[in-house]
Amino acid sequence: MARIVMKFGGTSMAGIERIRHVANLVKREAERGHQVAVVVSAMAGETDRLIHLCREAASLYDPREYDVVVASGEQVTSGLLAITLQGMGLNAKSYMGWQLPILTSGHAAALIEGIDANVLEEVFAQGGIAVIPGFQGVTHEGDLATLGRGGSDTSAVALAAAMKADRCDIYTDVDGVYTTDPRIVPRARKLDQVTYEEMLELASVGAKVLQTRSVGLALRYNMPLQVLSSFEDRPGTHIVGDEAIEDNHMERNVITGIAYDKNEARVTLTGLPDKPGSVAAIFAPLAEANVNVDMIVQSVPRAGEKSDLTFTVPTAALAHSVDTLEKLRHAIGFEEILTDTNVVKVSAVGVGMRSNAGIAARMFQALADRGINILAITTSEIKVSVLIPEEYTELAVRVLHTAYGLDAESPE
Ligand code: ADP
Ligand code: ASP
Ligand code: MG
Repeated sequence: MARIVMKFGGTSMAGIERIRHVANLVKREAERGHQVAVVVSAMAGETDRLIHLCREAASLYDPREYDVVVASGEQVTSGLLAITLQGMGLNAKSYMGWQLPILTSGHAAALIEGIDANVLEEVFAQGGIAVIPGFQGVTHEGDLATLGRGGSDTSAVALAAAMKADRCDIYTDVDGVYTTDPRIVPRARKLDQVTYEEMLELASVGAKVLQTRSVGLALRYNMPLQVLSSFEDRPGTHIVGDEAIEDNHMERNVITGIAYDKNEARVTLTGLPDKPGSVAAIFAPLAEANVNVDMIVQSVPRAGEKSDLTFTVPTAALAHSVDTLEKLRHAIGFEEILTDTNVVKVSAVGVGMRSNAGIAARMFQALADRGINILAITTSEIKVSVLIPEEYTELAVRVLHTAYGLDAESPE
């Protein structure tokens, strides 16, 4: 007997037919004698719809009320799955975030402070199945909170850690983690295993198959994690520690995967004074406003002239960033503020980069050969990212996938 968390994403929960299918997968694990907690997402498209409604109601909405609205999607699916499981004769019940509780701090991208798993112990002792809405938590004040887009993955891993589960299975609409998004590169290859570290980096640069925070948590608690399809019965991808990969003597590619992120916006400040402190005067207030700045490029001014500074922020934080900087226009001393949301960040990730030179050069050459202009660059120990015009997203991802030798022999 094992203790497991099964998480089902939006596509898997989209409609009663699919929920019935999910219920059968849950039933199968329960009949194997496992103790099962199920974490569910809202139906596909529902969270987008709810966010839209908030924006329609007011462009600068209160995050507390936003959470009240968007947390509702998962409430619906957890109730529906519990009803379906009960209809199949199983002892299942839903428990909202506040009923466990899943204690969180903040709103809209709340952090999990702790999960009380006592309720679940009682459920398991009585041979029951718990269905828990992903994405949602409750603050110390008793308010609803949500964990940020894709947050049900994080709910699942956090719950698995809290209930000391043997493993956490993430069921989604693809059958594993691929070398890149299989929806845009048919020649993408499924990875049998990927390290926590690589998955963390891939997720953080846009491979939305797992929310970044869920991978960080899995790493911290050494929680065996698996990504698999809720539609097809075949092995998925195991997210494992470095040791597991070495043990298997797996041949590793220098590059593990390519990811892209369209949720970045470019901001350029022109006519900046060329003096110490002028960059700090821009980024300190942005940090205070909780804006995560990613790529940064500064033009080198000729003697006595002014410089330009370009950086990227999450698209969702663009209006807030511009507002913050406009208010300080005088103090910072810039001339113009230009913004562009038609950009995409494309990244290559792989631990093999540490010991291989020329990885970035290959990227720049492959993009140049296709006439794709690079607007900004950042690198880390196991990652190279470029910012390019959004219209080239698919072409760039395909070209890099080929350039790094990741293409499968024939499309899967
Ligand atoms: P869910 O609703 O189940 O949480 P998501 O839409 O959040 O599913 O994540 C699954 C999607 O992630 C896939 O449909 C796929 O298009 C996308 N994706 C992006 N990069 C990858 C990758 N490297 N491997 C697999 N899927 C990826
Ligand atoms: N429903 C939420 C979202 O779409 C959370 C999730 O599905 O992981 O972002
Ligand atoms: Mg997701």
